[in-house]
Amino acid sequence: MQANTTYVQSVQPVQQGTVVVQATGNCPNCRIGFINENFTACGIIWAICCFPCGIICLLTQKERRCLRCGFVYS
Ligand SMILES: [Zn+2]
Repeated sequence: MQANTTYVQSVQPVQQGTVVVQATGNCPNCRIGFINENFTACGIIWAICCFPCGIICLLTQKERRCLRCGFVYS
C-alpha cells in the first residue's frame, strides 16, 4: 500500500502597500464627481430655429451636471 499524499499549496501574491487613489472632482455637491457641460435640448432648438442668434442662446443655456451624483447647477 502506497500512501500518495499531495499537498496543494496555493500561493497567493501578497499585495503590499495598496494605495487607494481617491479622485477629487470639482462637484460642489459630492466633491468627487466631475462637472460635465451639456447643451440643453431647449438651447439646441433655439439655435436651429433662430440661427444665428440662437447660437448665443445655446451657449448661455449650458447645463452643468455632475457625472457622479447628477447634481445640476447653473
Ligand atoms: Zn457630484
